[in-house]
Amino acid sequence: MDKLIITVAPTGSVPTKQMNPHLPVTPQEIGEDAARCLAAGASIVHLHAREDDGSNSTRLERFAEIDSAVAASAPEIIRQISTGGRAGSGLEARAPRLELNPEMASLTTGSVNFPNQVYENSPELIRRLAEIMAERGVRPEIECFDAAMIPNAVYMVDDGLLSAPVHFNLVMGLRGAIPASARNLVFMVDSLPAGSTWTVTGIGRHQLIMAVHAILMGGHVRVGLEDNIWYSQGVKASNTMLVERIVRLTGELGREVASPDEARRILSLPSRSGVGG
Ligand code: ZN
Repeated sequence: MDKLIITVAPTGSVPTKQMNPHLPVTPQEIGEDAARCLAAGASIVHLHAREDDGSNSTRLERFAEIDSAVAASAPEIIRQISTGGRAGSGLEARAPRLELNPEMASLTTGSVNFPNQVYENSPELIRRLAEIMAERGVRPEIECFDAAMIPNAVYMVDDGLLSAPVHFNLVMGLRGAIPASARNLVFMVDSLPAGSTWTVTGIGRHQLIMAVHAILMGGHVRVGLEDNIWYSQGVKASNTMLVERIVRLTGELGREVASPDEARRILSLPSRSGVGG
């Protein structure tokens, strides 16, 4: 079994400091948190942008500040920029951040009803984002909120818009998306094309349980305050606490945790000696 890749999603677009005071919001806070999570065992950081007041940002300059802060404080970690659309839905809002040429970016291959809004990803938007990523050498992580988003990615491989092997993130337990259960995870993983790699993101109280399933099944794990602000009932998490718990569980279950360079090999990313770019 491959070593386990831990992705941390420190901020997201929904949680606030009022909900959890550990939430990193400013570039400096996100950079420092990424460094702590790297030291704890995370090898990928999934980035969203906020303004200083906590509001969501689509500004390229803001993404650049965050990207630079993470590169300065945690140069080894793989930076993955979200192209998600809660902060602004069209291509003009979601594509400019790819000018930063991150090693990875998220790409959702379908639409879904979030509790209070449509998370709209039209075929044209998905295709354009994939084309821009391919032009820039940005490796997509395919975010699947439901089973049909998997074949949508396979069609894109067939059409030359994505190159295999594809790395998937199976997002489970968000209201409106596929429910988080062992049965659904096995079904999703069985639906992936041969040679794929996969991470599971369990939302809220599902984060821990789905992570344990993934550790045992040979997948990879995403944790972080974007998806879950609680450590246990009544105890607010920090990103570091969530990463440290996965590292302990992985060791107890007889698997090793991947370093960022090992994660690059597992995900077929070009090695980035010297980093910083
Ligand atoms: Zn995200």
